[in-house]
Amino acid sequence: MKVNIVGAGVAGLSLAWQLVQQGVEVEMFERGTRVGEKACSWFAGGMLAPWCEAENAEPVVLEYGKESLAWWQNALGEGFVDAKGTLVFAQQRDKKELKRFARRTQAYEVVGHDVISSLEPDLASQYQEALFFKDEAHLDPRKALIRLTEVVQALGVKINFEQEIEPEDLLPEKVVDCRGYNAAKTVQSLRPVKGEMLLVKTNEISLSRPVRLLHPRIPLYVVPRDDQHFMIGATMIENGHGHQFSVRSMLELLGSAYALHSSFAEAEIIEMGVDLRPAFIDNLPRVERDNNIWRINGLYRHGYLLAPYMAKLAADSIFSDTHEIEKLADFKIKEDRV
Ligand SMILES: Cc1cc2nc3c(=O)[nH]c(=O)nc-3n(C[C@H](O)[C@H](O)[C@H](O)COP(=O)(O)OP(=O)(O)OC[C@H]3O[C@@H](n4cnc5c(N)ncnc54)[C@H](O)[C@@H]3O)c2cc1C
Repeated sequence: MKVNIVGAGVAGLSLAWQLVQQGVEVEMFERGTRVGEKACSWFAGGMLAPWCEAENAEPVVLEYGKESLAWWQNALGEGFVDAKGTLVFAQQRDKKELKRFARRTQAYEVVGHDVISSLEPDLASQYQEALFFKDEAHLDPRKALIRLTEVVQALGVKINFEQEIEPEDLLPEKVVDCRGYNAAKTVQSLRPVKGEMLLVKTNEISLSRPVRLLHPRIPLYVVPRDDQHFMIGATMIENGHGHQFSVRSMLELLGSAYALHSSFAEAEIIEMGVDLRPAFIDNLPRVERDNNIWRINGLYRHGYLLAPYMAKLAADSIFSDTHEIEKLADFKIKEDRV
């Protein structure tokens, strides 16, 4: 069996990996000159944080997101997934935010100064209390995309770069549309949720794991990367178009990073990144089928968390040639019935 995939972002590459495991011949078409160049997936924080995300996501995100940790470890091999958990803080004046977050999540430990000192010594002087989600993990999305590309190519997947095509052009062969927000011309119910992120570098602070700072208006996360780089993210701007970074977003992100720890004041700004998260009305991703075209889209802010599960759903439907594909939106109804 041969399957074509249009788009080599996290959705397309996850599906390619899933299909080659099952012996399928896969050919990919990507408009960029290299992986990530034109992909929203390049700008992600890379947090595999299903328990934290459950704060404002449907229960299905937690249920299927949990499975992604093992999927990424298996697909990328050793050294790509850092399973050190997440620490969630609030400033003294926002203490009730920490309580609210705790009420809406599970699988955390309330930790005090001693544990904070052992986990993140540089934050210990500033915070007396935090929530520690020890089972969460993170990866560097850029390294992960490059690695996954190498892995699938080694397994025989042909990737054609600089090929901007419409999925319909590949019919009557089987084709999966993984174009992210660029599919909005065809998938009209998609909406863009603009995200802005910063990459900064400083030797003034070290972190070992993603850290979230709660705030009623401007929640922030900082994810450590190699070589004292830190990803600071991310804005969530509904129906935000364009790829410009606004002054307001810059002020808010940098202000929050400075509030997390004043040493970010001395950091060098290495990169400002902007892209559009593809989202449906319920913020849940979908696998849809229209004869020989399948579509994986709507990964919203859960690209790395849910692409593995969506890849499995799409691969199962392609294999069994079924139009009956699980809808994540139904999950809550099923759960309510239990
Ligand atoms: C600032 C920010 C932070 C985020 N943080 C996280 C996070 O911490 N964890 C998480 O899980 N998610 C996060 N996300 C969300 C995540 O990035 C998205 O959900 C995910 O990238 C969507 O993946 P995708 O493969 O559907 O789309 P994309 O990554 O956009 O991939 C689509 C690919 O298709 C290609 N393409 C498009 N049209 C064509 C065409 N006609 N022909 C050929 N190729 C085409 C594009 O060039 C691109 O490579 C974040 C997003 C942003 C913006």
